Amino acid sequence: MDKNVELFMEGIIQRNPGEKEFHQAVQEVAESIMPFINKNPKYKKAKILERIAEPERVIMFRIPWMDDSGEVQINRGYRIQMNSTIGPYKGGLRFHPSVNLSILKFLAFEQVFKNSLTTLPMGGGKGGSNFDPKGKTDNEVMRFCQSFMAELFRHIGPNTDVPAGDIGVGGREIGFLFGQYKKIRNEFSGILTGKALNWGGSLIRPEATGYGCVYFAEEMMKTRKETLKGKICTVSGSGNVAQYTVEKLNQLGAKPVTLSDSNGMIYDPDGIDDKKLEYVMELKNVRRGRIKEYAEKYGVTYEEGKRPWHIKCDMAFPSATQNEINKSEAKKLVDNGCTCVSEGANMPSEPDAINVFINAKILYGPGKAANAGGVATSGLEMSQNSLKLSWSREEVDERLHNIMKSIHSSCVKYGKEGNIVNYVNGANIAGFVKVADAMLDQGLI
Ligand code: NDP
Repeated sequence: MDKNVELFMEGIIQRNPGEKEFHQAVQEVAESIMPFINKNPKYKKAKILERIAEPERVIMFRIPWMDDSGEVQINRGYRIQMNSTIGPYKGGLRFHPSVNLSILKFLAFEQVFKNSLTTLPMGGGKGGSNFDPKGKTDNEVMRFCQSFMAELFRHIGPNTDVPAGDIGVGGREIGFLFGQYKKIRNEFSGILTGKALNWGGSLIRPEATGYGCVYFAEEMMKTRKETLKGKICTVSGSGNVAQYTVEKLNQLGAKPVTLSDSNGMIYDPDGIDDKKLEYVMELKNVRRGRIKEYAEKYGVTYEEGKRPWHIKCDMAFPSATQNEINKSEAKKLVDNGCTCVSEGANMPSEPDAINVFINAKILYGPGKAANAGGVATSGLEMSQNSLKLSWSREEVDERLHNIMKSIHSSCVKYGKEGNIVNYVNGANIAGFVKVADAMLDQGLI
């Protein structure tokens, strides 16, 4: 490791003990940025990297709520307000039992660079709770969301901090959270994105992360004069991002063949077509069942406790969670002929896995670039709320598509190494420059 990065990381580890996901995310960025900072001493002098790695504010709070049997339950809530230099804090809320400070700080840190890449005026934040919506009734989820917002409301606002969904937070949760905010504040304003269409949501927001991730893959493939037509694609997860990744892959003539959840994966060599996807959406979004049921319905393979990276594919779309591809899985993907990995999830590839992709010179699109379509469309939802307008489906999709093309161009601009593109360096440096320059402009704040 570069000496400067090593020294910098020593400080990070000392100030944030035990936060391994946060260390991982910061180190990846530091490795890309350090050579750039050394060439541009104004950033070094103002200690921009040190300042960017320290959250502006961390809020942690108690969430008491009552389950259906009348028992009191207590969860912990968080909001990390990481950086507001180029706009109000913006980033999702995650409800999952694994949620802790380290995971949310890594996500908030990544979000700063991602939001900068979108070209929209959004700072970075992230939040959530260790609450597990799985197996809870709608009423329990509602009571939890109301208690969560009974504290969060005082820290957010349309010009301060605008949360959205993430793992475990979809349309149902956003609805309950919004209702509670409105009741407490007596105010109807755009304080959350991912809202339903009939009360301020944007068309294409549910689709945006998955669609955007496929658009980004398409741009990467174009640099090698390739298209998605006929490509066999592995997809992990079966939630929001995975579902719309599959939908867009089908639209562009590719063949998605896998899906997974935290229990296991299915492999459907005939392809998960639109009709089967409709079944998955009903299974996951309405009945809230397990992906295993797909295998039973369509008579395909189900592998308990497995991830899909051993399945032969041309392209891979990790869309479940962080650190879901390790080094040996990355090798397997490359050995099996995979030439493109586009990350729908945040930080799904472990650092060793990323090295495998980069050394093999395959197209590797890191999450902060490839999945930025979600937050970009959240930005478009905020604009529509401010303007009190609703744009058509085509209009939002076209803007999303253009934003993904522009993110790709920024990655190429800052990541070109000879005749290949290092998208990790490209995304990190491009995301950094905009925020860093704004921090310089705004003085020591
Ligand atoms: P959902 O909750 O809709 O779906 C998550 C999926 O991943 C589910 O299938 C879930 O399985 C699976 N999963 C979650 N945690 C784990 C785990 N620890 N191990 C194995 N499988 C797991 O979330 P999203 O689709 O919204 O988010 C997926 C990823 O995309 C996350 O990394 C998120 O940060 C990222 N992302 C999401 C954006 C968005 O707009 N929603 C924007 C940008 C990034 P199960 O049902 O069993 O829990």
